[in-house]
Amino acid sequence: MFARAYSATLVGIEGIPVSVEVDIAGGLPCIEIIGLGDASVREAKHRVRSAIRNSGYELPARRIVVNLAPAGIHKEGSHLDLGIAVGILRASGKLPLDIPRSDYVLLGELALDGEIRRTPGILPMVLSVIKNGRRRVVTPQANQAEVGWLEDGEVRTASRLEEVVRFLSGTGDLPAAENKMPPEGSGEDTTVDMADIRGQEAAKRALEVAVSGGHNILMIGSPGSGKTLLARAIPGIMPDLGPDESVEVTAIHSVAGILPPEAGLMKRRPFRAPHHTVTPQALVGGGIVPKPGEVTLAHRGVLFLDEMPHFSRAALDALRQPLEEGVATVVRSRARVLFPARCFLVGAANPCPCGKFPSDDCTCNERARRNYLSRLSGPLLDRFDVFVEMSPLSLGDLESSPGETSAVVRKRVTRARMRQVERFSGKGFLTNSQIPVKDISRYVSLSAGAKKLLHRSFNELGLSARAYHKILKVALSIADLDDSPRVEEAHVAEALAYRDCFLL
Ligand SMILES: [Zn+2]
Repeated sequence: MFARAYSATLVGIEGIPVSVEVDIAGGLPCIEIIGLGDASVREAKHRVRSAIRNSGYELPARRIVVNLAPAGIHKEGSHLDLGIAVGILRASGKLPLDIPRSDYVLLGELALDGEIRRTPGILPMVLSVIKNGRRRVVTPQANQAEVGWLEDGEVRTASRLEEVVRFLSGTGDLPAAENKMPPEGSGEDTTVDMADIRGQEAAKRALEVAVSGGHNILMIGSPGSGKTLLARAIPGIMPDLGPDESVEVTAIHSVAGILPPEAGLMKRRPFRAPHHTVTPQALVGGGIVPKPGEVTLAHRGVLFLDEMPHFSRAALDALRQPLEEGVATVVRSRARVLFPARCFLVGAANPCPCGKFPSDDCTCNERARRNYLSRLSGPLLDRFDVFVEMSPLSLGDLESSPGETSAVVRKRVTRARMRQVERFSGKGFLTNSQIPVKDISRYVSLSAGAKKLLHRSFNELGLSARAYHKILKVALSIADLDDSPRVEEAHVAEALAYRDCFLL
């Protein structure tokens, strides 16, 4: 007998509807799954067989062929289990064929005892199902937080196979996914508040400027100067995710399987800090079935590379293309997958191998120091617009009173961002750092004093054209923070202080 059930799969972070076709015919008893499934899909037959038996149903002792269509798309993951199990039950007559609920799209991994487990990637699959006009879905109960906020479509949740069988045959009901979005501010929060960081006022200011204009920032300072704390404070001074961004970021984290169980839509910007031993693949994404890398998990948030000179050359090189284009392209024999990768890059490094330069305790010679910092040079360094040197905290810093809170800084940043959104409306970019070189003069209007200072610096400091353009863009961000329609001399002077002079 032949029957069909509906499910979905993922290509990158996009969901694709899948039709599960099941045919039961004569032959030796077995389950055969065809249609480009990976190992996790091929193993589904073992999970599905046990789950069906342990839910109190009998499998026919015949040959069962399961085809996952469209066959041209590689399928991976255990989320197809539920669809396969229901397809088999229908083809074997355990579930009537002409039931009114046969059009539900079924998503979820089965445990051997028939339980439906929490499954990665549910949100993007449900979104694709709804977009494709199928409006009724069953997802694991344990995934309801990530889909409970959806207003389109009808999303039901189940925790056992037999519940789904009863529901589909009309003898039982399934609860609708609930919107249990946690109130703002609750849940895990690893962000540091600016007010908790003593001293380092110049570095805090540099961060504010960098975040306002979307300028990647590199911090150089000895261990203990607070680079990591400052980096962790960055999500807190960025405006919260907008509604569309929120869905996009939550979908990415759902695919990666790192959404906290009770978390609904993500509101805060992600912060990712991969260790310096990270592989290029883990950084930009990859795998036989491509998975998002750190640069994608940091999409619309912060990617922090601590101890940057210790990252492998291959890892840093792999970051160039995604950072430039805002998209990580992963090419594998079976697919070419694009992952979004628009993140704010924060680098940190010690001033020398021992970390104590320029104090007298530094034991490194000039050559060792240059070698160390030269590992930072190259094309990736061009991705940074703002450079800041941090000195070790003094006793005075430690005893100083708390500064501004992140909320206060975030207000200024948000206002500066709004200016940019208005300025660039319809241009395809949003921040000052993204202005193409040919358009800079159109957006930056300089006062006479600013112009003079720039010209003098250009000649006296021997600035490259690239450095010159960066200074213009950063000065524009400083003017935005100042609510000034024109770039003044003081704005240029501050921008000049953020160039990479210590690397020369
Ligand atoms: Zn040293």
